[in-house]
Amino acid sequence: MDTTKSKDLMRRAVQRIPGGVNSPVRAFRSVGGDPLFIARADGAYLYDEDGNRFIDYVGSWGPMILGHNHPEVREALAAALGKGTSFGAPTRLEVEMAEFLCQRLPHLEMIRMVNSGTEATMSAIRVARGATGRDKIVKVSCCYHGHGDSLLVEAGSGALTFGTPSSPGVPKGLAADTLVIPYNDPGALEKVLQANKGQVACFIVEPLPGNVGTLLPKPGYLQAVRSLTREHGVILIFDEVMSGFRVAFGGMVEVSGVEPDLVTYGKIIGGGLPVGAYGGKADLMRQVSPSGPIYQAGTLSGNPLAMTAGLTLLKILDRDRATIYGRLDSLTARLGAGVKAAAASAGVPLTVNRQGSMFTAFFAPGPIEDDVSARTCDTARFAAFFRGMLERGVCLAPSQFETGFMSAAHTEADVDATVDAAREALKRI
Ligand SMILES: *Cc1c(COP(=O)(O)O)cnc(C)c1O
Repeated sequence: MDTTKSKDLMRRAVQRIPGGVNSPVRAFRSVGGDPLFIARADGAYLYDEDGNRFIDYVGSWGPMILGHNHPEVREALAAALGKGTSFGAPTRLEVEMAEFLCQRLPHLEMIRMVNSGTEATMSAIRVARGATGRDKIVKVSCCYHGHGDSLLVEAGSGALTFGTPSSPGVPKGLAADTLVIPYNDPGALEKVLQANKGQVACFIVEPLPGNVGTLLPKPGYLQAVRSLTREHGVILIFDEVMSGFRVAFGGMVEVSGVEPDLVTYGKIIGGGLPVGAYGGKADLMRQVSPSGPIYQAGTLSGNPLAMTAGLTLLKILDRDRATIYGRLDSLTARLGAGVKAAAASAGVPLTVNRQGSMFTAFFAPGPIEDDVSARTCDTARFAAFFRGMLERGVCLAPSQFETGFMSAAHTEADVDATVDAAREALKRI
């Protein structure tokens, strides 16, 4: 495979952009080699600068649930473009987006648009702190909620001690207000809430963690989390930036039947443009400025192009939900079963976790149900597999600890070609 043009671009990129990329995992650091520079994408395929074609399971890290360059989204954007790109004033589209979401998702009474998932979680946490007058928050160690200061925190020496910054530049004092507990462990949540009675504003969790690879909540976990937070007067925030509109139209709230107080969205909600959102109970959301005192703002928030792309995509998902989510589920099941069988015949221990169209093939015997078990993976073997797949025209996320995404533009033939590639790649690692 000729990747001369990507290599040349990477050489230039590293001179002027930290690590050559505008978001770290794109740099292929954990799998080796240089990233591919993508020139265009269509349906299930990516095309790099050298003209190579790849079956894509990254889907721009989640948004592309209907595949790249979807004709309805593209046409809606083209029409919107003729009307101007940003007004800094309210628009009809923002009202339609808010009404559309709140009418379809019973857990949303009000919603505020922002520009990324990071902004959504930062803002939701501010609302929780502002509404409760408490400073401490509780998060789960394997969950990623964007790069906000309060959230780039890892566990200290014990689950009940202060959190410590997981990046230079995060103030120790701020990290100390973030308490970090393991996933799938309601006992740990109960302990931390008992030990910090009356001091915890919120518990934020990815109801279906996707940022350490796909993990599934154990039966009863989310229900236990709901009753514990309610009992302690702690606001429950579901971070559905990845799982929202992905595992079902109503995300994990729909799948689990558990209603949080606040929810954050991103990725799919922008239809491939930069959008995030946070929303939930009206008594909390009314406290956001200008209707309340909790400050949060954005020059480009609710941008007409972003709202057009997002709302167009969401309306298709809503209109065709029965067929789209069923199709995504069966395609992803087919892929998971095929790759598992290929691994078994190659004698490679592999655990496939999947919920709908989110999946991870962990190179470990499993089960993988939290970050401790995820650490048992053979990451060198994953890296070899990743490179083997790329050579065979399949683009996976360049890290063992990421989620793969199926799109509705993938076909059975794409999936079967992927399984064939996996069979060959697995024999050689
Ligand atoms: C991607 C992601 C974020 C961050 O969103 P950005 O748009 O990258 O800022 C937050 N939470 C979860 C669960 C995510 O998957």
